[in-house]
Parts: sequence; C-alpha cells; structure tokens
Amino acid sequence: SKWVYSFGAGATEGRADMKNLLGGKGANLAEMANLGLPVPPGFTITTELCTYFYANGRSYPPELTAQVNAAIARLEQAMDAKFGDPVNPLLVSVRSGARASMPGMMDTVLNLGLNDATAAGLAKRSGDGRFAYDSYRRFIQMYSNVVLDVEHHHFEDILDNHKRDKSYTLDTDLSAEDWQAVIEDYKKAVERELGKPFPQDVQEQLWGAIGAVFGSWMNARAITYRKLHDIPADWGTAVNVQCMVFGNMGNDCATGVAFTRNPSTGENAFYGEYLVNAQGEDVVAGIRTPQHLTVAGKIANKSDLPAMEEVMPEVFNQLNEVRLKLEKHYRDMQDIEFTVQQNKLFMLQTRNGKRTAPAALKIAVDLANEGVIDRNEAVRRIDPASLDQLLHPTLDPKADRKIIAKGLPASPGAASGKVVFTADEAEQMAGKGESVILCRIETSPEDIHGMHAARGILTSRGGMTSHAAVVARGMGRACVSGAGDLRIDYKTKQMSVRGVAVKEGDILTIDGSTGEVMLGEVPTIQPELSGDFATLMGWADGIRRMKVRANAETPLDARTARKFGAEGIGLSRTEHMFFDPERILAVREMILAEDEAGRRKALAKLEPFQKKDFVELFTIMAGLPVTIRLLDPPLHEFLPNTEEDMAEVAAATGTDPLRVRHRTIQLHEANPMLGHRGCRLGISYPEIYEMQARAIFAAAAEVAKTTGEAVIPEVMIPLIITKKEFDILKAVIDRAAEQVKAETGVTVEYLTGTMIEIPRAALKAGEIAESAEFFSYGTNDLTQTTLGLSRDDAGSFLPEYQRQGILEQDPFQSLDVTGVGELVEIATERGRKVRPDIKLGICGEHGGDPASISFCEKVGLTYVSCSPYRVPIARLAAAQAAL
Ligand code: PEP
Ligand code: MG
Repeated sequence: SKWVYSFGAGATEGRADMKNLLGGKGANLAEMANLGLPVPPGFTITTELCTYFYANGRSYPPELTAQVNAAIARLEQAMDAKFGDPVNPLLVSVRSGARASMPGMMDTVLNLGLNDATAAGLAKRSGDGRFAYDSYRRFIQMYSNVVLDVEHHHFEDILDNHKRDKSYTLDTDLSAEDWQAVIEDYKKAVERELGKPFPQDVQEQLWGAIGAVFGSWMNARAITYRKLHDIPADWGTAVNVQCMVFGNMGNDCATGVAFTRNPSTGENAFYGEYLVNAQGEDVVAGIRTPQHLTVAGKIANKSDLPAMEEVMPEVFNQLNEVRLKLEKHYRDMQDIEFTVQQNKLFMLQTRNGKRTAPAALKIAVDLANEGVIDRNEAVRRIDPASLDQLLHPTLDPKADRKIIAKGLPASPGAASGKVVFTADEAEQMAGKGESVILCRIETSPEDIHGMHAARGILTSRGGMTSHAAVVARGMGRACVSGAGDLRIDYKTKQMSVRGVAVKEGDILTIDGSTGEVMLGEVPTIQPELSGDFATLMGWADGIRRMKVRANAETPLDARTARKFGAEGIGLSRTEHMFFDPERILAVREMILAEDEAGRRKALAKLEPFQKKDFVELFTIMAGLPVTIRLLDPPLHEFLPNTEEDMAEVAAATGTDPLRVRHRTIQLHEANPMLGHRGCRLGISYPEIYEMQARAIFAAAAEVAKTTGEAVIPEVMIPLIITKKEFDILKAVIDRAAEQVKAETGVTVEYLTGTMIEIPRAALKAGEIAESAEFFSYGTNDLTQTTLGLSRDDAGSFLPEYQRQGILEQDPFQSLDVTGVGELVEIATERGRKVRPDIKLGICGEHGGDPASISFCEKVGLTYVSCSPYRVPIARLAAAQAAL
C-alpha cells in the first residue's frame, strides 16, 4: 500500500480534503502547492501508518523504507542537493500533523541531516559559518531532546556559560567559532547522558525523528489533550518531512506567523509578527521581541521596531498576495507560517485560524458581504454558545485575577461587588447604589429580591438547575453555583476557602461563564448588540422555522426578552409574582386560612396585584403570544422557616403563632417535588386558579381596550398526569372567562393548554390533546421524573457519571434526546394525531441549549422558550437546525 504522499516541486499528490489521511498540516501543504504557492517540497507519511505502527508493536510495514527513500531521492533532485552529502547537504524538518490541530502537543525536529561533515559543508557552501553552526547546534539540542530524551537544561546551561564567558547578551552575538565550541560541549553532554555519541548517520537521524513523531502520539500530554477535545486515539498523526528553508541565514532572512485578519477583533487587516534572521521556534519561544508585519500593526501596538512592510517591502507584498489568495481559496480567515530565505518567501503552514467570539461574528459577516461565503454559511459558522460572551459583561482579558474558588458556570457574565450574605442586605446596599455579590449556601424563592438587587450570585451548593442558577439566568445576573470549597457561615458573616477568609463588605468578582471566583475587583468589558451582531441575527431569523419565546415574568425580563428578539413569552412562572413584600402577606394569609371563605378573602387581596402584573406583561408584549402558567410550587415554599419569622408572620396576619407552626408542619412533605404542587394544588384549592384566571382575562380585556391590541393569553396548567385533572381545571378557567366577559363586556380569546412534564402525561398525550389546545414540554421536570434524578441534588454525583461516560452530558443542561426525547416524540405524535394544529413548545432549560434546539427542530415543535439572555442563542441555533 501507499504510505507516502509527495508535495511541492511539481509533484503534489495530496489535497486539502485529504485531512484524514494526511493530517491537517500535510493536506494544507499539498493544497498550497496545488495553488502554486511557494512551498518547500516534502512528503507526508500517512496517519494510516501511525495506526499500523501501534497495531504492530511499534514497527513499520516492510515497504515503507523504499517509499521514504524514493521520496527523499525526489527531494534531492528538486533541491539539487544530497541527503548526508558533505559538499552539498540536503536538510529537512520532520513534523507531526494530526487531523485536528493539537498545538504544541507533539514533536518537531528541524535542521535534520546535519553532522560534523555536513555542517562544515553547509558553512562552506553558504559562505556563512555562523548560520551553519547555529543551525547545527539547534539540531543537536532539538534532536537530543525530542528523540533521545536529553533534558533541555543541559544545553541551556552550556550556552549560558559560553555567553557569560564572552560577555554576550544575545544569541546572535555568537560567531561561527563560538558556536563550534558550544557544539563540542553539546556533543560531550549528549555522550555523557546517553553513554554513546550523538548520531552522525543521517539515515539514523531521519528514522529516529519519524519514530519520535509517531511515538509522541501516545505521550501523556497528547493523550490528555485528546481527551479534553474529544479526539479519538485511533485517528493517528501523520509525519511531514520537508526541505528546510532558512530564516536564520542573515538579515535578508526572516520567519513569522500571521493571521489573514485580526483574530481578536476580526478586522480585515493583516495581523502578525516576524523576526529577522531567526528560525520558527524563536518567534514562539519569546526570546526576542517579535516585530509587526504592518506599519498599522506597529503603530497600534506602540512598537519602536520596524515593520516587515518597511524592512522587506517586496517580500511583504508577495506575502500579502498569498494572504488574499489563501482567504479566497479557503473562504475563511487563515493562520499562516512563513519563512523568508535570502529575500525569497516560503509558506510552511496554513489552517483556519482560531478567533474570539466577536472576531468570529465580524469575520463571518464581512466574508458574506464580500461575497466570499453566502449568508447561510455565515450563520452556520457561529457557535451559538459563543454569543453568551457577547451579551454579558466579560472580564477584561488583560486584567490580573486572583482565583480563590471554582464552581459551576451557572449564569454567564462577570460581576464585581461587595460581599453580602442575605437577600435583605443585598437589597439595602444596592438601594444605596452599591454593587453587591449575594453569597448564599443555596437560594430559595425568598431570596428573589436580593438576587435581583445583586450584580452576581454565588452559592456553595446546587447544580446548573438549582434555584439560584435558573433564577439568575432568567434575570441575566451572573451566577456561580455549587462552589463546594466555600465554607459560608451566616452567623459570623464570613466565608472561607482554603485558608482565605472573605468578610461581609469585601470585594469579590465572579465569572458566571467560567465558574471562577476571584478576590477583589477585576475590570469588565460591556457588550455591543448592534452592528455585526444585529446583522447576523437578522440573517438567522430569515432562515429559522421555529419561533423563539422567552421565559419571563417581570416587566424587566419581558423588556429584556423583546430587546433580544423574543417573539412572545413561553413561560411566565406566576409564583415568582407572589414573593413581593407587598403580596407575600396575602399569600400567607391564604395558606393559613381555615377554610375556602378565608382563602377567598386573602385571594381577593392578591387579585389586583396579579391583574396589574399581567397588564404590564401584555402591554410590553404588544399582541405577541404570552403563556401564563398557573401556580406550581408547593405552598410550604411561601411559609417562613425559622421560629422568629413564624412569630412575625403570625403577628402580621393576625394568626395564632401556634397555628402558623401547625400549618407549617402540616404542609411539610418528604418529597415536595413529587408532592402537593402544580395542578394538584388547583384540584385541592380551585379558588387559587380561579383568581389567577380572572386576573389574566381582566388584564387582557383592559389592555385590549386601552391599547387596541388584542392579547391572546395562553393559560397553562402545570404537572398534569391525566385528562381528568385537565378537564376539571379547564372548567374553572372557562368559568372565570365567562365572569370577566359578563363584568367587562369584552370577549377575550384565549387558549388553554398544559405542560407535559410527567412521563404519564407524555404517554397519554393523545387523550389530553382532546382537551388541551397546546403542549409545552417542561423538560426540567420531565428529565427529573423520567430519569428519577432530583434536579436539585443530582449535581453531587452527575459529574462522576459524566467522567465514567455513563451520561455524556448533564441531562438537565442538554436534553437526553434518546430517553426523555423519545417521550417528547411520542407525545408530539400522539397529540398531533388527535389535534393536528396543536401548538407545541418547550420551556424547560433545554429551550436555550443548541443541541436540544436542534432536536426540537427535528421533532417539529412550534417554538422554543428560554431565559431572555439566551434568546439570541436560541434564534441562531434554531436557524442552524433548519439549515
Ligand atoms: C419544567 O419543569 O421544565 C418547567 C419549565 O417548569 P419549572 O422549571 O418551573 O418546574
Ligand atoms: Mg416544571
């Protein structure tokens, strides 16, 4: 079989689309050669050989030697030089090149083919002993390190000693004779370390380097890198053997790396660095300060060193033409490496360049506007998750950070502020204009006002769907949850982590995009929603089929959602409207009431508040659909926990303190998530749902009258398990509608539907659809109940499940499409059979997760609904899913 593919010097056998066989570097070198760009000739030994090597006890197939020899012979002919020839030696580089780039993970050897005789030959032929011996000492050092495992410091010590003896500061100060002396010491060091001399035989050198590159595929760092980046071990690496060109032959030589556009801003400007009289590793190693390619880059970076554009204008222009050609050909920003040997340009590498999120956006939009790619392609190129970086303040990458703890990246964005430990303090201090970070062991609905007042929320317990995480995402507050190393002590108003104590009032910064917690204030950068962002989102909107709604209940959330392009509200959690200090008293009165009459009295106090909430929501949403979910959580969540608070509530509601205690005990449940919540409350206390429904319809009637914009509320019943439950509660809702009609004279059009969040409801969706006009998949609870995993506690062991590969992802973040997803498919099919035009949405956290959104498109849902800050992500992901 064929193991070796040549490139350059008119005999290129590979192409860019042969990455699997030739690796990224080999395939792109072949492609550049095909484009007629100046690529030093060479050959690639395939990734299949790597596979063979490991499958056969680290040995090669017998025919490899002949194929490599033939390829070397071709290089000798092309370069008019001979491998190992003391008069006119051919030198090569040997480099790794996997399918996916693994920067710095594997081995490279340069200047191979040098020995005592060829180095002397090179010195004579080039007329430059300094260059020849500098190359030879580099080779000894690199080869000894990479292939023979001699540690770097031996060589560094020798070089430092020589420089000290001669009072030199720079490597370029050394003369040919100096380098020869260094080389003698290098060779002695190698012999001392290995017990045998440095190999003088160039064939031995070549096969040693090839073996080292294949061997490096299984070194510890490469294995770790593959694990982190999901690269399979059986892909293997290729080996590229290429004729050396020299950037270190004098001042008409240089080497550099460049991006065809600015990788941090995306600006269409050539961006890169180079060094005169140097070899590639000098640029990366940071020994000398690299110079800028362009004058503009030099000015922008306040550099005093001359730009390549000034120093070698002709070669620069040639490089700039290569830049334009490569971009046009690859249709994307490229990351390139080049060398200039005696004013002649050579290209050593090209690949799609890594870039920041804002740069990715700008580059995609610009390329589409330049006609290089079409708009669909531009939309396809942006990672929806990366938009998070654009919508929230982010930490200034240049700033120092002192990380003291790490938790889950629960809600993106960065925030700094003074540490407080209670919601009330958060509210008070924020009221005085202070920025605060609310630190809690965990949060509960009682903390909402403090969470709202805070810039950021930090908890020591709880996962990605904990109360803190869900609420913070909804509000767009930065949140780090489950930072388990933090010891929070409410009594002393202090927390500690590995010996660091943080007191109330100390300044902390959290990064909800990474989960990092930092001491002190780290400066942030504000987001920009216009320009390229708006353009690309517009293109995405033109592509997608599914609508995107938001989960929102406060006016602020609703406005944010609209600003981000939400086309309605898919979930308004009405319980969040109950915690306002003005209302909580009436809620508690209702819960403490002895009988229905008492409850109705308390509910009557709540109704105007609810109506006001809905008027605001409907007005902001201006005719867009709004789904309002009737009360869901168990009642005990609204009652106080401590004796002190109970006494306070008793006094405020005029109830006997004993009654408060008794009722609290009575409402206590061992499994509240599976308990007296959702529509079960509505079944027990229909007057609660009746009040909420009346408030909804009265609000819709009022908004229709005042704004002329008819709202079609979608009234949603949570946690249904049977059609019977739904029918009983639908009757309550319909009666409320009749009442409002009688009172206001306005007929409000509305839909009544249900959440599907219990497996039984998914299975009986056909029956339920006889009555329900829409379904909204509550995949938070549906995941919890299908997997039998507590959404509040699973964070403590799910990481282990992911580590062992039992679950690929946290099923509360990315939908378990094969399990929970099957229930969604079943419910969709059965619901549609009965009611073909049924509206279908999703409002669990998965509604903002790109992979889950792609599944929703496949199933054909009408819309996805997610927290306001995820709306742009969902718009883009929905467009990509439709492409
Ligand atoms: C759900 O269960 O997916 C849902 C949206 O409801 P909640 O998170 O309020 O239980
Ligand atoms: Mg739910």
